[in-house]
Amino acid sequence: MTSPELTESVRQNGKERSLSNHTESTNPYELALQNFEAAADLLELNESDRAEIRAPERTLIVNVPVRMNDGSIRSFEGYRVQHSTARGPAKGGIRFHPGVTLDEVRALAMWMTWKCAVVNVPFGGGKGGVTCNPKEMRPEEIERLTRRYTSAILPIIGPDKDIPAPDVYTNAQVMAWIMDTYSMTRGHLVPGVVTGKPISLGGSLGRSEATARGVFHTIEAACQHLRFSLKGARVVIQGFGNAGSIAANLIDSAQAEVIAVSDSKGCVYNAHGLHIPKLMTHKEKTGSVVGFSGAEPITPEELLALPCDILIPAALENAITHTNAEKVRAKVVAEAANGPLTPEADAVLDELGVFVIPDILCNAGGVTVSYYEWVQNHQHISWDLNEVNSRLEAVMSRSFHEVLETSQERKTNMRTAANILAIRRVVDAAKLRGLYP
Ligand code: NAD
Repeated sequence: MTSPELTESVRQNGKERSLSNHTESTNPYELALQNFEAAADLLELNESDRAEIRAPERTLIVNVPVRMNDGSIRSFEGYRVQHSTARGPAKGGIRFHPGVTLDEVRALAMWMTWKCAVVNVPFGGGKGGVTCNPKEMRPEEIERLTRRYTSAILPIIGPDKDIPAPDVYTNAQVMAWIMDTYSMTRGHLVPGVVTGKPISLGGSLGRSEATARGVFHTIEAACQHLRFSLKGARVVIQGFGNAGSIAANLIDSAQAEVIAVSDSKGCVYNAHGLHIPKLMTHKEKTGSVVGFSGAEPITPEELLALPCDILIPAALENAITHTNAEKVRAKVVAEAANGPLTPEADAVLDELGVFVIPDILCNAGGVTVSYYEWVQNHQHISWDLNEVNSRLEAVMSRSFHEVLETSQERKTNMRTAANILAIRRVVDAAKLRGLYP
């Protein structure tokens, strides 16, 4: 599948570029800007249009001092970035991870703007994060961190301003603490300030599976477009958290074979297909997929190079770079994670003819059901699961086909098409609103 020339050079925008002996940027903000400029070039946007929507509208850096259980006080750095509110309130998750940086948060905030626009949800883009390692913290310490971080970003968040949600290593409990902290300062319950809440506190049915369900629907649509059956397809998943494990379960239920999965501790492989329900129980009990009896261990490099029909990166950014992209042996790469491919990896996969379902489309199911949660909170009603799931399926299918049509009209890949569609919608909104004052 890989031509020898490909290991040495990649054509990008008509230019031949050598991949040997050069360093590839993995700064997520630089990569987000590169993708933006490439789509803006194709849209022939002038510099004024670009300038208005390129930079984040607001960036807040906060110090988060936390009293630890041993009595000491530790300070963590936190961020909240609102990239755009042109189409609605900023919307985006909060990440607690040791690798969180301002540039990562700025990139993720920008991707949220495009993601909401690509599925036509009336939100802008935002993101937040705290540089910390929740795996080394006790639940009470995480609660104190969450509440202090919330109070630090409180002036800029709100149900009509900026609505956080869960992301890597944050969950419904963390959202409940954010909502409680915000509500206590307002003197009444404000459920719409966050999404991804526990159901009993105004969370939406179907929210916790929504990202994976959206990934699943875009994969179904890609299989239909490429004329191969999901039933019997061989699937590899990197990352077995919220997005990855639930996607594995849905794919398994569709009678595809999930042959390998990984998490931060290691990878497991079974050529005949892993028993996903048993693997989920194993992960729940032990905290990792490692040591699962129905599988053999493999390395992360081997996992990404497995011959398969569908590869789902569902962990973190930059999982596939120019150094490992050429080893990918998948027909479809479905980006459940945000930014798992560098632009150079993208170019390599393009050359290889791999059909990439870009992150802003593939994992937009989460923000779509977050929007439904917010709508239900505002109206003080709750929809049944069937209503949530059928609305989600309709949005994912419509959005996939809109991106596909754009890619066919423009003769570009799906990522560029998704960016074009999204950036066009944001530019149109900004232009119609005009420049204040
Ligand atoms: P999570 O914390 O539930 O899961 C992350 C998983 O990735 C864990 O299993 C972790 O062990 C694994 N992981 C971390 N580093 C790894 C590595 N180097 N190799 C293999 N596995 C590794 O997070 P999540 O919510 O599932 O998010 C995963 C990705 O999906 C992120 O990029 C996130 O931004 C994106 N995403 C999530 C949602 C959502 O609603 N959860 C929505 C949109 C996008």
